[in-house]
Amino acid sequence: MSSTKPRPGPRAARRFVDWVTVTLPSVPAAAAYLDHAATTPLSPAAREAFVDELSRTGNPSSLHAAGRAARRTVEEARESVAAALGARPSEVVFTAGGTEADNLAVKGLFWGRRTTDPRRRRIVVSAVEHHAVLDPAFWMAEHAGAEIVLLPVDGDGRVDLAALRAEIAEHADEIALVSVMWANNEVGTLQPVAEVVQLARPHGIPVHSDAVQAVGQVPVDFAASGLDAMTISGHKLGGPVGVGALVARRDAPLTPVLHGGGQERGVRSGTLDAPAIRAFGVAVAEAVAQREERAAHVAALRDALVAGVRERVPGAVLSGPEPAPATRLPGNAHFTFPGAEGDSLLYLLDSAGVQASTGSACQAGVPQPSHVLLAMGVPEHDARGALRFSLGATSTPDDVARLLDALPAAVERARAAGLASAPARTAVASRTGGAA
Ligand code: PLP
Repeated sequence: MSSTKPRPGPRAARRFVDWVTVTLPSVPAAAAYLDHAATTPLSPAAREAFVDELSRTGNPSSLHAAGRAARRTVEEARESVAAALGARPSEVVFTAGGTEADNLAVKGLFWGRRTTDPRRRRIVVSAVEHHAVLDPAFWMAEHAGAEIVLLPVDGDGRVDLAALRAEIAEHADEIALVSVMWANNEVGTLQPVAEVVQLARPHGIPVHSDAVQAVGQVPVDFAASGLDAMTISGHKLGGPVGVGALVARRDAPLTPVLHGGGQERGVRSGTLDAPAIRAFGVAVAEAVAQREERAAHVAALRDALVAGVRERVPGAVLSGPEPAPATRLPGNAHFTFPGAEGDSLLYLLDSAGVQASTGSACQAGVPQPSHVLLAMGVPEHDARGALRFSLGATSTPDDVARLLDALPAAVERARAAGLASAPARTAVASRTGGAA
């Protein structure tokens, strides 16, 4: 288990930027957007609520009529989010997005649990968490005396429950929290959250799950999950960017991370963004109400995409589990194309009017193999040829057709450009080593 996190060097970054600058042609007008996991369009209903609320003035903490109206808006949204996710309104803590909610969960639960029991220093997280969970955990190791335990995953990216069982058997009294995401943002793998809760809760260990990619895609019920805390984000489900929530049990030991006006039951200070929160409430309700229909729509497109890529691109390898409702997000397809650089592919496709991702948008910009793929045991050479295609409510068969038309030539060109010229990399992290 490692506590070092590989970062790209400045020279690699410069080489990549040079390559992009020289190579990028202009972008065609109507692109096929296959990056819904990075951000998905604002739904018309959410946009309408957002714009309507923007024309009002009123701080939800103010006591006059305008403030009370803004407060009513926020509380209605809170009820809407809670009802859609099987939570109580008082359990919804609004934040400025998924990253903040993850930080609040990791840091807040660590400090909260440690306050009552100083032995609890261990933060147990899966090796495939989003950086919004991994980075605060590593930060706590560097600055707050935490010890990181990275849970290994299998070749499909599913967390190793035996490793968690062993960790709890040996260190139950030293664990401050466990965090295992509901669904992986890169390869779409669904995690056994209920089993994680069953293992941890009998020992009084709080469990958090990042459900940013899961809500609106698969059934998510906070009360039924038994979780102590769960992260959600607006722009992944049809709401605005910059709003989200940590859904947290009232008795979850959460120490605030932001201090100030004491909003959100003292757990998260900061003036509440009534327009964004209202739109978020609309989007969550809509995404959950339409989930089955949308999931069937995107799963059918995704299956056609996967079959088409396998048929047309020799050597393409689907990462993560075979598509099935119980194992994988319906809108996710992730491939490695050994011999090609994912970033080269991304830009070649972009120039052909197809927008995809190498994985996590939050890491994009500098090529480096994904920590998720490395944790799954994918060799570094192959991991560097990764591309994620993610579909959403507005995806169409035409989007898939455009990808399938453009991809074979893009892969051929990227392979011809080859990895031979790429700089040498350091050794692959082992499957159980869990480099983040
Ligand atoms: N968690 C996961 C799984 C994500 O995919 C993302 C966004 O990429 C985040 C957290 C961060 O959410 P936000 O963009 O709202 O800060």
